[in-house]
Amino acid sequence: MTRSIARIVTIVGQPILEGRNLSYTYENGYTVFTKVDVETCENELVAIVGPSGIGKSTLLRILGGFIKPATGEVRLLGKKVEQPTPEIALIHQSIVTFPWMTALENVMLGLRSKRKTRQEMESAARKMLEVVGLQGFEELYPKEMSGGMRQRVAIARALAAEPIVLLMDEPFSHLDELTAEGLRQEIYSMLFSTESTLRSAVLVSHNLNEVLELADKVYVLNGSPATVVGTLKIELERPRNSKDPRFVEYLDLLYKYLTPVRGVKQ
Ligand code: ADP
Repeated sequence: MTRSIARIVTIVGQPILEGRNLSYTYENGYTVFTKVDVETCENELVAIVGPSGIGKSTLLRILGGFIKPATGEVRLLGKKVEQPTPEIALIHQSIVTFPWMTALENVMLGLRSKRKTRQEMESAARKMLEVVGLQGFEELYPKEMSGGMRQRVAIARALAAEPIVLLMDEPFSHLDELTAEGLRQEIYSMLFSTESTLRSAVLVSHNLNEVLELADKVYVLNGSPATVVGTLKIELERPRNSKDPRFVEYLDLLYKYLTPVRGVKQ
């Protein structure tokens, strides 16, 4: 579906992905979070932030249907998510590309519509590589690419599957700071380009600057068990400048939400 059609079929304000009253308890009885409500809207990049070990990755996996919550439910465009679906793509912390395949072949692997001819699949994959800034690098193998390029291939492959929502678990944490910053500056326009079917994205991160640079809305998890202790709508134009006094104000607010809560190892 092209972006213009996606917009037409959207009921104004209808959530894209919703998690309601989510909680999760591990087999050893440890309840990691409880009563968590999150939602993403059209064209929104939503961040979930919190200290390490607070349950961000677990929550992301629940949102993708990879694990079942102890309470609550997840809905995609109103329909209950009970198992992984191609409409929700996940990018892991570690960059996953297949070393024996070129960039183009790696992206072709993600293509969902099996009705396409090989030529159509190749052309769709080339288009996605162009979206992530890898035009001209289609024939390179992962070992010939930098970490940033490999992460771009992983993003192109995820987008090639024509998902509605993309879940990203610390996607910049394995990159050096300069590479990560370059990718951060481009990621919003990659995800919501006219070639992409994506209607919202969720980013898990422990990096407050990163979250403020990228997100439209931030959920802050803290406590034990964790709950959403703050929800911030980030009303700053893009590209964002970390020296903007309003950026600094948001940062201070996030720090306040994240000051250590008694009983939580941080
Ligand atoms: P985050 O992404 O915020 O770093 P995680 O979702 O990875 O947090 O983990 C949340 C908490 O659950 C951590 O404290 C972790 O030690 C704990 N945990 C993770 N896996 C298990 C498990 N299989 N059994 C018990 N506790 C676990």
